[in-house]
Amino acid sequence: MVTEETLRNRVMALLDEVKDPEIPAVSIRELGMVHRVEVSDQHVRVELLPTFVGCPALDFIRQGVQRRLEAAGIRADVAFVLDVPWTSDRITPEGIEKLRGFGIAPPVRSDSPTLVPPCPYCGAEGGEIENLFGPTPCRAIFYCSRCRQPFEGIKAV
Ligand SMILES: [Zn+2]
Repeated sequence: MVTEETLRNRVMALLDEVKDPEIPAVSIRELGMVHRVEVSDQHVRVELLPTFVGCPALDFIRQGVQRRLEAAGIRADVAFVLDVPWTSDRITPEGIEKLRGFGIAPPVRSDSPTLVPPCPYCGAEGGEIENLFGPTPCRAIFYCSRCRQPFEGIKAV
């Protein structure tokens, strides 16, 4: 019988394999969506935080988690909870690096005076918001005033 600690660590490792369907470079754990993993009597409950409420990908993500765990022989309840608000500050440092590698500007800290992240191409700050409604609710299109390129970024919330 595996200990609760081992099982919990296994679940966390498996959660790292579930990617955000909109940004496949980044796992849901790296996006800070994993609120809690509870293990008791070999029963696993995974609580996730929705990045943006109403995001149509939520059900897809929940099922993806369930399937990934089941494939590893772990039965789990997977639920989205609203116990604490997800904020873009929850994205882990690895997640931020992967977003950059994927060509998406990571969000500014939520207490930053500007909403516009530095340009991923030239690093310039002080760009403009071109379109707050990017390809998905989490993303916006910004415009770099130095290298004059539009770029996509995660909205800070
Ligand atoms: Zn630039």
